Amino acid sequence: MSEKIHFLPWERKEEFREFLKKCGVLDEIRKGYRVGLKIHFGEKGNPHHIPPYLVKIVGEVIKDKGAKCWLIDSNVLYRGMRARTSTHLEVAKEHGFMDIGVPVKIAGDFAQEREMEVIVNLKHFRKVYILEDFLEFDYLILLTHFKGHALAGIGGSIKNLSMGCASRKGKYKMHSKMIPQIKEELCTGCGTCAKHCPGEAIKVKNGKAEIIEGKCLGCGECIQVCPAKAISIPWESVKSEEFQERLVEYAFGIWKERKGSIFAINFLHSLSPDCDCLSKPAPPLAPDVGIVAGKNIVEVDEFSLKKTIEVKGYHAPEGVDKFLHHRPNIPTHIQMEYGKKLFTPL
Ligand code: SF4
Ligand code: SF4
Repeated sequence: MSEKIHFLPWERKEEFREFLKKCGVLDEIRKGYRVGLKIHFGEKGNPHHIPPYLVKIVGEVIKDKGAKCWLIDSNVLYRGMRARTSTHLEVAKEHGFMDIGVPVKIAGDFAQEREMEVIVNLKHFRKVYILEDFLEFDYLILLTHFKGHALAGIGGSIKNLSMGCASRKGKYKMHSKMIPQIKEELCTGCGTCAKHCPGEAIKVKNGKAEIIEGKCLGCGECIQVCPAKAISIPWESVKSEEFQERLVEYAFGIWKERKGSIFAINFLHSLSPDCDCLSKPAPPLAPDVGIVAGKNIVEVDEFSLKKTIEVKGYHAPEGVDKFLHHRPNIPTHIQMEYGKKLFTPL
């Protein structure tokens, strides 16, 4: 590994404060800096998010350096509590993140969403769409619950950076190659979607909404506003391998724009095969492993996966990739392989 990766076993997590101070990932943070702590608060009901008391320690160590920090996440594309700022904040509160001494910011609320285009000229995207809120800090630290993911294989720092910091349009473009789908049988013809569509891409004809393909910007707004839940993302339009490469291209765009001022801390606990976006995720596949920190997000994810492979799982022995064993058709290595090509040298 070109960068030093630091590891703290989960049974020694009470030493996290000392680990943070010694491992060097916060060394470049100086007095007066503004630091963003990119986190995922977990969907309502999801018990697998990072324990708030560990996040509190990160905030305290940063504040001891005379810097200011904020916990930040973006609103999501799918319907749920984390789709709107007001309910997203409710979840953050319910999961214990509002009283740890670090202010919480939610980026990407409909009308207030501030998006920036970054030119990347890569295999899948010529440009990527990022929420400006994530570019306003002097440093961005990814606090990531490492787990499995039904489409990405694993959800680590790469995914936290890419999907987590993209605008709604960016999130949509990573997920889908196609325009949203309208279930005719559910559509009441109310016209709410057409009223909100920024591309004027929706017409209501004969009491049913229709999307005009060439005009759709892929922003996903219609999905959120439809009161009948008749509009959805065609999730299957992008296969796992391509989805993973798309994630990496977005992560690269943000990293490039931030000139590398991004550090990663992965928390390898509650190793569910499912994303924290689910309110009822599957139980963990292995015991809690530890905490991995480093400045190279690709290597932090690679090392994290390696550590989860090393342990004895609940359904698979040592040496077996628990996430791949759980979903044999969803590869777990593509993000890292493609990431190494794009992020070299970091
Ligand atoms: S908002 Fe939903 S129900 Fe109303 S017209 Fe659009 S698709 Fe149909
Ligand atoms: S995704 Fe956005 S641009 Fe496309 S139809 Fe829906 S609201 Fe309109």
